[in-house]
Amino acid sequence: MIVMKFGGTSVESETAIRRVTEIVRAAEVRRPVVVVSAMGKTTNKLLAMAREAAAGRRDQALGLLDELRLDHLRHGLPLAGAESADLERFIRSHFEWLEEFVKGLAAVGELSLRSMDAIASAGERLSSLIVSFAFRAAGMRAEHVDSRRVIVTDTRFTEARPLFERTYAALKERVAPLAQEAVVVMGGFIGSTLDGQTTTLGRGGSDYSAAIIGAGIDAEEIQIWTDVDGMLTADPRIIAGGHRVKSLSFAEAAEMAYFGAKVLHPATVLPAVEKNIPVVILNSRRPEAGGTRIASEAVPSKNPVKSISCKRGITIVNIRSTRMLMAHGFLRRIFEVFDRFTTSVDMVSTSEVSVSLTLDNTENLRAITDEIRSFAEITAENDHALVCLVGENIRHTPGIAGRAFQVLSKLNVRMISQGASLLNLGFVIADRDVPEAVAALHREFFSELDPAVFD
Ligand code: ASP
Ligand code: MG
Repeated sequence: MIVMKFGGTSVESETAIRRVTEIVRAAEVRRPVVVVSAMGKTTNKLLAMAREAAAGRRDQALGLLDELRLDHLRHGLPLAGAESADLERFIRSHFEWLEEFVKGLAAVGELSLRSMDAIASAGERLSSLIVSFAFRAAGMRAEHVDSRRVIVTDTRFTEARPLFERTYAALKERVAPLAQEAVVVMGGFIGSTLDGQTTTLGRGGSDYSAAIIGAGIDAEEIQIWTDVDGMLTADPRIIAGGHRVKSLSFAEAAEMAYFGAKVLHPATVLPAVEKNIPVVILNSRRPEAGGTRIASEAVPSKNPVKSISCKRGITIVNIRSTRMLMAHGFLRRIFEVFDRFTTSVDMVSTSEVSVSLTLDNTENLRAITDEIRSFAEITAENDHALVCLVGENIRHTPGIAGRAFQVLSKLNVRMISQGASLLNLGFVIADRDVPEAVAALHREFFSELDPAVFD
């Protein structure tokens, strides 16, 4: 069995769902369980509709509702073939229920987290139903399973956490056997409490659903289908010509995500990581592209560096002890202030009298500065960037730092750090130097590529 998860853009339209149908058909022998997000921007629209209603703007809310109804009918019905009348009945009755709900919200003028979840869940309930009809019309055996009957959660509405034992038991009992006979289709993002209240796992939660479902049915692989060709050696927003990284370890993917790479953060697929199930990122617009496979062990690579990650627009904060040396407890006092303002620090370097650190969130920097001034000198510099080389082999390969700094010798490198994991080497430079630095590093570390790992 495998899990195939398709995000919002992959199911945004009739055309997109037809692509998904072909992708799943080609994988049918692997017994897929398909997990889908809401179509396109549906979740945003549903929540906007709920807020409009609760604010008393009933007509605006009902206008949004009509748009959504029309979209789902227009894209969904042509997919259902001979069963289109059945699908139409389902879609219309969902929207009748939503309409009652919205009118209720407008009358009460109040929006609880529980109501938000009930409304937001409609997106995945609809998309999964539509996709199951599309699969059947295309000749596959497909069964829709309402995720709320298997993903059991606590009662933290809008950020519910799964009750793993119950959920895994339900998945084993209901989904795994069914998947032997048919393609199972489920909505991501949604679940329900023990007493049957609808919950959601938090925005963007469908990846998490896919991981939970994969872990619960002991899937051999979890595929996350999105709209990019997996992870690249360099961010395409910075330089063109990056190469696809075919294989990464979970640890490498975590470092890349932490240092700015988009796509997938391993924390969102933790249940899969814990059960050692590989996660593959694939492009639903270019299924032939191959994607990136993330597993606990990295495929051995001749290239020590797998990727250059980059976090732009960060601020360096320099703090200098007002005494000749840093007193005992100095660092603790500094970090207590950052902690109190829930501001996280990305990189730190210290010397005898000063500490430099980097922030990407400067919302509370004023207040932090005021407090720290009472015991130290503090200055801040905007417009910097954190550039990070990531790769498991960095720790085993001598000379990586030397090569990197040779390449950057004309630039002013402000801070340097090698994380405790030893699989990254990071440094801070001026933001305007980023394109030049990334291009030069890319030339240095990726002019020869190990075909086992790179495309
Ligand atoms: N539809 C949900 C959202 O937009 C969940 C997801 O797409 O992952 O947040
Ligand atoms: Mg998403």
